[in-house]
Amino acid sequence: MKNWSDLDKRYLWHPFTQMLEWTDTDPLVIQRGEGNYLIDTDGRRYLDGISSLWVNVHGHCRDALDKAIIEQLGIVAHSTLLGLSSIPSIALAEKLVKIVPEGLTRVFYSDSGSTAVEVALKMAFQYWRNLGRHTKRKFVTLAEAYHGDTIGSVSLGQIDLFHSIFQPLLFHTFSLPTPFPYRHPDLSLEECRDRSLDHLRALAEDHAEEIAAVVVEPLVQGAAGMIVHPPGFLRGVESLCREFDILLVCDEVATGFGRTGKMFACEHEGVRPDLMSVAKGLSGGYLPLAATLATEKIYEAFLGEYAEYKTFFHGHSYTGNALACAVACANLDIFESERILEQLQPKIALLQELLSTEIAPLPHVGEVRQCGFMVGIEIVEDSAKRQSYAPELRTGARITQDVRSRGVILRPLGDVVVMMPPLSVTQDEIRTLVASTAQSIAKVCGA
Ligand code: PMP
Repeated sequence: MKNWSDLDKRYLWHPFTQMLEWTDTDPLVIQRGEGNYLIDTDGRRYLDGISSLWVNVHGHCRDALDKAIIEQLGIVAHSTLLGLSSIPSIALAEKLVKIVPEGLTRVFYSDSGSTAVEVALKMAFQYWRNLGRHTKRKFVTLAEAYHGDTIGSVSLGQIDLFHSIFQPLLFHTFSLPTPFPYRHPDLSLEECRDRSLDHLRALAEDHAEEIAAVVVEPLVQGAAGMIVHPPGFLRGVESLCREFDILLVCDEVATGFGRTGKMFACEHEGVRPDLMSVAKGLSGGYLPLAATLATEKIYEAFLGEYAEYKTFFHGHSYTGNALACAVACANLDIFESERILEQLQPKIALLQELLSTEIAPLPHVGEVRQCGFMVGIEIVEDSAKRQSYAPELRTGARITQDVRSRGVILRPLGDVVVMMPPLSVTQDEIRTLVASTAQSIAKVCGA
């Protein structure tokens, strides 16, 4: 039998990974998936507590999803959307437009969250140019923003560890202070929210004619450590965008498809973005697929004679891939046929209760942040002083390593332990997830 671990170390280069450290570890090689579990090459089962990096929605090897792909395989795997159209891409676009926030009527496909953001950036930029307003070409994002790894989306990014090395390649982006209550214990939730909104107002007053769009992750900044924004923040951003004639781009790559308890996070505040990027959960964790949704107003600004250069010159070889669109249709159908969002509410409540009784009281837990099925557990050396561990101790990574030995897969974001279970996780599995995490935190940090 092949030694997959050795071959991995010989041939692969892993994302976001210091490969020198990786080669010193014994990589966990996943062989197959079954419902909410992943199974390694030795047959050990792990609860997939991060939905295979926030993408898996209804579990692994779901019959209806497998069948959708197999059926489409027997028809055609791929044909281009450049100069042709295809049935699965049309069918999915119609389904998407029916479930996204009102006003988003046009679907532009790409392959990953990063490209869906990149498309939104280029559309926002070109929208203003097509209207003759050439100065509106800058973007505003939140401190600690993360919107993907392509150069445009990295230009929006504000996580030093990931982004600062690429600075010479990037365009300038305006930065807003993140409304992050845990980092501002001196401020009330409202003050924390208003501080960011006041900053945006000041920026808009001085620079509205330069700003194309504000780009935000609605409600929760995932990669920044599951920062949950105070209520009213997103609505406040939207109303400032309207007041100053700035586009609002919502990056629902992580928050979309039920993650926050509603289909899209924007819905919690009744917000209607001008552009919205989706990916991850769109295909249920099966195939790479993303989409950028636009309003009719934006779409219409791209209409004109060929020589007017209003056309949106962007597209990828696999744009609107038939297999991916077919499985995404089946993925959305499950939401409806199994009333997933309804079924989710008691599970979210149970998760919240267990986090507050079993995790929050642990001495080295600074804060538990939860929005639906997005959870960040901030691990600290001293919770009274909100003092972090030294980064070189890699406390978050040691906790997620330990929890693996208990049959659960989690990921750290620095010293924030992240939980993002599939929406199909059962109540018993939620109990296991929380209990194992509590044990690992206590073991690594001391009870
Ligand atoms: N936007 C957000 C909010 C994300 O969380 C991510 C990925 N974690 C991306 C964009 C990039 O998506 P992808 O990794 O599919 O390129």
